[in-house]
Amino acid sequence: MSENAKSGTLTLIAVPIGNLGDITERARQLLLKATCIACEDTRVTGKLLSILGAEKRAELISFREENEIRLAETLADRLAQGQDIVLVSDAGTPAISDPGFRLVRECRRRGLPVTSAPGPTAVATALSLSGLPSDGFLFAGFLPPKKAARCRFLESYKDFNYTIVLYESCHRISKFLAEVEETLGENRCISVCRELTKLHETIHTGPSQEVREKIAKGSQKGEFVVLIAKDGFEL
Ligand code: SAM
Repeated sequence: MSENAKSGTLTLIAVPIGNLGDITERARQLLLKATCIACEDTRVTGKLLSILGAEKRAELISFREENEIRLAETLADRLAQGQDIVLVSDAGTPAISDPGFRLVRECRRRGLPVTSAPGPTAVATALSLSGLPSDGFLFAGFLPPKKAARCRFLESYKDFNYTIVLYESCHRISKFLAEVEETLGENRCISVCRELTKLHETIHTGPSQEVREKIAKGSQKGEFVVLIAKDGFEL
């Protein structure tokens, strides 16, 4: 709890990653009564609020990667002065490959209260659906854009004993799957989860070459999570 009884609370609220029906009742209630919402794209969050039936307009603050460092201090000041603030992403859980970490860190440094209304996130959804071992995993978010850095990452985790979970953009998915095959071999078991919870949800799990070929034949539009099993794992 707060070291300062007068300070406001920062609440991280998870929102759906595609299917609006996945919003939790608690997230809905908290969003409807929020007075100040820090969000990535104010249009996206504004639309979600309308769908939820928000009657009065909360203050929406655009909180993005580009202004996160500067705004983290400002928002922490407002929290310290007693204002409650809600943090949401465009999709999924704030601070998971999205803005939030710096604000939460600033709150922790100052002893300001932070809580959450947990819910959807693509990393847990993909891991649980993939069929790859889920007893332990490394979530590495987005890899760097340059091929050399990506291959170095794959090389350094070649013998890692747990599943690796990565986010990848639709523009790079084919190239990345080729890099995985090149670095880890055509038989390394991987899973590619596309458009989770949406109409065109597709999950391919199997040897990297087979999965790469299936992805090459299908649509490469949408959002992707790539999972890599430990060496020797077979479906
Ligand atoms: N905060 C989000 C979360 O909790 O998952 C992640 C935001 S990150 C900017 C966006 C990336 O997450 C996408 O490029 C994709 O890799 C992954 N992602 C988000 N939604 C997804 C979905 N419905 N299906 C597959 N991947 C998804």
